[in-house]
Amino acid sequence: MSMSSLSSSNKPDIRGLSLVELTKAFTAIGEKPFRAKQIFDWIYKNGAMDFDSMSNISSDLRTKLKENFFLSSPKIVEEHISNDGTKKFLFEMADREKVETVIIPTATRATVCVSTQAGCKFGCKFCASGIGGWTRNLTAAEILSEILYAKSKSNLHPLSHIVFMGTGEPLDNYDNLMQAIRLINAKEGLGIAARRITVSTCGVIPKILQLAKEGLQIELAISLHGYNDESRKVLMPVNKKYPMNDLIAACREYIKATKRQITFEYILIKDVTCSPEAVRELGMLLKGMICKMNLIPYNPVSEFDHKMPTRQEMFDFQDSLERAGIHATIRTPRGRDVGAACGQLRHTAQKSAAV
Ligand code: SAH
Repeated sequence: MSMSSLSSSNKPDIRGLSLVELTKAFTAIGEKPFRAKQIFDWIYKNGAMDFDSMSNISSDLRTKLKENFFLSSPKIVEEHISNDGTKKFLFEMADREKVETVIIPTATRATVCVSTQAGCKFGCKFCASGIGGWTRNLTAAEILSEILYAKSKSNLHPLSHIVFMGTGEPLDNYDNLMQAIRLINAKEGLGIAARRITVSTCGVIPKILQLAKEGLQIELAISLHGYNDESRKVLMPVNKKYPMNDLIAACREYIKATKRQITFEYILIKDVTCSPEAVRELGMLLKGMICKMNLIPYNPVSEFDHKMPTRQEMFDFQDSLERAGIHATIRTPRGRDVGAACGQLRHTAQKSAAV
């Protein structure tokens, strides 16, 4: 779907344009190029959510802007603040699709977890995002509006890191993802270093290889969640199309091109993912690779039958991985009291809309 087709008026959403594109568009409507930079500052430095708040822009130009462009204002339909400070928002887009965004503060900074699609095609058998299927890609402007809104809500903890770990598969919406990343990264945009941007993927190999060639040191996280093809394809149907050995080869390629370590995300499900066999296989699979493993305790989703292992089982599994030469940490769950696991808010909102 094209960017403009989502605005009610068929005008381009100004937030999804690069400075070069906006400058060109301004020249085309007889405006001075420096005005484009002014508007950019309003959007990215001052967080303007509409044209009328751009106070040093003449009302004539504001009228002209409204005639030629669109500036999507995210509508917040739910806002939850967890006991641990995690904030979760459910946004409604112009076509009423809903997506969620999470702000995760630490002592000094904040990370925003961003959605890239309304729903998800990949149907992982533990994830709430895939249950209702896929509706559409988010535009670059919509992705950016999640981040800019989160920025405006994290005054106490400046927004320093972006993780694409919300609803959807970022690499299945590659062009819009990259347009958004370039604007996050650009100094005239949000000015956030590529090393502070993490893209998490279920393993869309051709796009991993494409990302490796972008010349950006984006952090790559791979949802592994299995230790061989058999165990992985039960939980992740994507493994049938993109099997494990090819995925690991693509990861090695990514490390070579970007000189960055890869993070493997690995879900901890009782009696499913944390066996001695898993340790053995993972040790062989990841031998000599510049990587670390992020162990994610399964966050219960009512549609699935899995259970989280006990704390002791999780620590034992972590220890065994370390002994097999894999550096592994257990992710501290954040915001569980407000359903901050992937796709839970959107999914719950959809379920209650259906009854
Ligand atoms: N599509 C991307 C981003 C999705 S979510 C990907 O697959 O990587 C970010 C992480 O949360 C992924 O590793 C995903 O597998 C994991 N996740 C999803 N549902 C979960 C659940 N119920 N419990 C624990 N982790 C989950």
